[in-house]
Amino acid sequence: MKVAITTKGDKASNVVAAKLIEYMSFYAFEMNEDNPDIVISVGGDGTLLYAFHKYKHRLRDTAFVGVHTGHLGFYADWLPSELESLVIALANTPFHSVKYPLLEVIVRFSNGEKELKILALNECTVKSVEGTFVIDVEIRGQLFETFRGDGLCISTPSGSTAYNKALGGAILHPSISAIQIAEMASINNRVFRTVGSPLILPSTHTCMLKPVSDVNFIMTVDHMRKELNDVKSIQCRVADETIQFARFRPFPFWNRVRDSFIR
Ligand code: NAD
Repeated sequence: MKVAITTKGDKASNVVAAKLIEYMSFYAFEMNEDNPDIVISVGGDGTLLYAFHKYKHRLRDTAFVGVHTGHLGFYADWLPSELESLVIALANTPFHSVKYPLLEVIVRFSNGEKELKILALNECTVKSVEGTFVIDVEIRGQLFETFRGDGLCISTPSGSTAYNKALGGAILHPSISAIQIAEMASINNRVFRTVGSPLILPSTHTCMLKPVSDVNFIMTVDHMRKELNDVKSIQCRVADETIQFARFRPFPFWNRVRDSFIR
């Protein structure tokens, strides 16, 4: 089995990564950074987001595992003290994997620039560079609302516990193939009106954001930030691609939600 390790780069994560390599040397693993079957991310959720973007061109052939060296993560759910059992479980292939939905974003430009296709594991947010963010929100080709406020957050089910949650969005089980649109500080008064609630769209529905006047935006995709100019439209839907997580023990999603937010 071909394995790649991505680490956060801090001392604790590098120590854990070195230990992993040592344990793996007792089995028939091949370290292969370019074409791994398994990517072990050592650090936190941010490290797994980085690993996802590094290997998003080979999602069909790669499964991810996260080890956390800080607090319990949503993606990084193995403890450094469990490394030996993780390596033994990995060596006893075939392993079971679960697939989680991803968000596909396509940005089209009015200046002839080639369209941009983006995959997000957590979410994509869109805000204005300056001033109030104003955008027409179309769902399935029909105008739904003209949004005015700070921005919009479009998240995946596994990303629903991240930024989306801080915006009052619902937590969605990742077995649901959907995306969620959450508002950031919408302006609601006698003149301007938005729905005010997070929306959950099934995989058959597409949401299109169309600029009303300002065409320059700040977009974040997971941990990354990008400035977009001359935007014609931003299309969001559930991606055809999925991410696979290698599962060696049961750790139900709702237990992770409870352990992260309640206990
Ligand atoms: P970071 O270092 O600022 O960490 C953000 C926190 O989000 C960390 O505690 C991380 O464990 C947690 N997190 C990441 N993915 C999660 C998930 N799917 N479920 C629950 N918690 C999760 O930034 P980072 O590590 O580079 O992560 C980028 C993510 O930060 C973005 O994708 C976004 O979701 C999140 N974020 C959250 C807020 C907010 O809650 N107000 C604001 C900006 C970004």
